[in-house]
Amino acid sequence: MRKPVVALVGRPNVGKSTFFNRLVGEPLAIVDDTPGTTRDRLFAQGEWLNTVFDLIDTGGIDPSKTKQGEPLSVGSADFIDQIRTQAQIAIQDADVVLFIVDAMSGVTPADQEVAEILRRNQKVIDGKPYPPVLLVVNKADSDRYRNMVPQFYELGMGDPYPISALHGTGTGDMLDALLAAFPEQVKEEEDDSIKIAIVGKPNVGKSSLLNRLVGQERSIVSPIPGTTRDSLDTHIEVDGLPVTLIDTAGIRRRGKIEPGVEKYSVVRSLRSIERADVSLLVVDATAGLSVQDSHIAGFILEVNKSAVIIVNKWDAVAKDNYTMQAYTEQVRRELNFMPYVPVLFISAKTGQRVDQVLPMALHVQEERLARLNTGQINRILQNAQEVHMPSSKSGRSLKIFYGTQVRSDPPTFLIYVNDPKLVHFTYQRFLENQIRQSYPFTGTPIRLVFKGHH
Ligand code: GDP
Ligand code: GDP
Repeated sequence: MRKPVVALVGRPNVGKSTFFNRLVGEPLAIVDDTPGTTRDRLFAQGEWLNTVFDLIDTGGIDPSKTKQGEPLSVGSADFIDQIRTQAQIAIQDADVVLFIVDAMSGVTPADQEVAEILRRNQKVIDGKPYPPVLLVVNKADSDRYRNMVPQFYELGMGDPYPISALHGTGTGDMLDALLAAFPEQVKEEEDDSIKIAIVGKPNVGKSSLLNRLVGQERSIVSPIPGTTRDSLDTHIEVDGLPVTLIDTAGIRRRGKIEPGVEKYSVVRSLRSIERADVSLLVVDATAGLSVQDSHIAGFILEVNKSAVIIVNKWDAVAKDNYTMQAYTEQVRRELNFMPYVPVLFISAKTGQRVDQVLPMALHVQEERLARLNTGQINRILQNAQEVHMPSSKSGRSLKIFYGTQVRSDPPTFLIYVNDPKLVHFTYQRFLENQIRQSYPFTGTPIRLVFKGHH
């Protein structure tokens, strides 16, 4: 089943990111407060009544940055353009749009504008506008502001749902309505091929890479366009293994899309990542790593998928002996929440090292599926405690009894301890490293779950 994608839209300051953070809760185990991964996340998973969905805060998408490198000033013509682009991204690709407005400021011209863009871009399916838009009136903290809510009917977006993202009130009814608005779930065609997605910002060379990868493989099984609703998949065989390349760049568009918007396929990237086992995150060697690159990487981690960083356009970089090392260090710094990820330097243009891309992706997938036996794990844990005793807090010290790998894909370890609360984050990271020293699980996040035991 495909997870529904929910997009938040609204002018700045209505509380989109506050709402986003409330909905997705604590970020997963990301070591540092790296900008662009925890506080600044744009993509995350939300959950309500056991239904999981992907959430995207379009307010954080800044298409202009990819062109000029500078954020835009509030109120400029470009700024309106940007909100327009964000609304279009949402309406083109999301399953449900949450249109956020602000009870304290009432209906503003910018809200009218957003409403108009949303309406204009909705399609009609079975006599109903699609995708559905739910109008969420935030900052309805008190009766005074809740009384303002009926005026939002004038936006023509149906019933307004008052909430307070700050206090967490009203969100229950709103989320019930959200669940009701989800489309019937479409079952993805299942096949046993290894699924590899090519993701990244516009213009980094995704299409060029795909063409190279397909070009070098003799045996294209069947280039079936649009096997699923969202993408153009290419089926190939690598060393006798069936592989599906999921191409975000070439994904079929839903309806008409304005030029410019088309390139910002963030929602499609999310879907590609969700469907894939391994994502090839393509970055531009000539531009360095950007916040957007970290956002995408953060999402790959959040949904427990594997990744390979592909530094493309290596031909266009003036090199001395240290450049590759310097770039790798930058990747390690910016993506310090996934130190296990392999980095390949390629040129889709000249073909340099492109032949290493699929073998690396398959290697990552192989390790993703690996299982360590219990004896092996307990030797690792034993050794870890000898190397580095867990430090004691408030007089009680952590004791590790034993561990076992309870699943693969992604690898998940259950570790029995005297008290899970005594597991300090740094010690968890240390144990993870010890496991990876025995078996690297290249490119794949591993999960450690601690359970109390006497
Ligand atoms: P965004 O630009 O739409 O992402 O808005 P932010 O989430 O950054 O919020 C803008 C401001 O509104 C911040 O100062 C928030 O603390 C505040 N805010 C967000 N939600 C609420 C709310 O429910 N009530 C009140 N009183 N303030 C809120
Ligand atoms: P996409 O938007 O990520 O699919 O990127 P494209 O594959 O369309 O490439 C964007 C631009 O970068 C095009 O002008 C390509 O010719 C160029 N390009 C792609 N790969 C390379 C490369 O390895 N080296 C150089 N110098 N240019 C490249």
